[in-house]
Amino acid sequence: MKIISNPLELKEYLKDKNQSIGFVPTMGALHNGHISLIKKAKAENEIVVVSVFLNPTQFLKGEDLDKYPKKDEADKKICELSGVDILFFPHAENIYTEDEVSILSPNVRGYILEGTSRPGHFNGVLTVVMKLLNIVSPTKAYFGKKDAQQLHLISLMVKQFFMSVEIIAAETIRESDGLALSSRNAYLDKTQRQEALKISASLHAASKMVTQKILNSDEILKKMREHLEPLEISYVEIVSRDFIPLRHVEIGNTIILVEAKVAQTRLLDNIWL
Ligand code: AMP
Repeated sequence: MKIISNPLELKEYLKDKNQSIGFVPTMGALHNGHISLIKKAKAENEIVVVSVFLNPTQFLKGEDLDKYPKKDEADKKICELSGVDILFFPHAENIYTEDEVSILSPNVRGYILEGTSRPGHFNGVLTVVMKLLNIVSPTKAYFGKKDAQQLHLISLMVKQFFMSVEIIAAETIRESDGLALSSRNAYLDKTQRQEALKISASLHAASKMVTQKILNSDEILKKMREHLEPLEISYVEIVSRDFIPLRHVEIGNTIILVEAKVAQTRLLDNIWL
């Protein structure tokens, strides 16, 4: 596995390769969710590039940028063992200068849900993803459904900026008890981890209601809020795949999303129905 930190060196290295490139952008502290994206990329491409970059511009002031788990050596091992060809490991100075051009997320879909809790967050996400996609020029780039709104906005950006990359959505990987894997789970102690299970349980309850033909969003959201108690809920919403709020679940076109706080840790989860 080749490790590169300079964007121009990576561009030069990949130039004229004439092979399909699968790209998995991450912020590090890799877990099985990331590994599943890497495996998918490996199965579908000749070369796999993974980036590990803790992107400062997507964190708001006072958020957890400084305490976000950093596991550089373990990440390198995981990439090596997963058969990654190139690990892109830039420093912030390799990616950003001063007085930068940036991408703005859309006024509506960038400022609902996660965008309400973290205004401006998606500007940072879209800007870094634009940079990374331009550096790697992948055939396909892989993103988790776990971050559904991020995935949606990246797909919109790629479409609206006429970019030549295929965005591939990957399923959410969970622990056996239902907890969605996240680098931020490392913040949870044993009791908090138990509390966090209320999030996947609320989604499970919603999905059960839908199988019982209860499709009314208000009814489902009420039941979910009961399951989430006493967690502090940032949002719980039922939207279409295009992120328009739905009054009724439409099978094949629905995402139910939750963000709740366990102690100081914000955890996201969702199901696609
Ligand atoms: P992050 O390092 O948290 O920025 O995540 C990098 C990529 O991994 C994003 O596309 C995430 O959506 C994806 N990801 C994170 N957690 C999971 C998970 N539990 N299952 C599948 N993909 C995930």
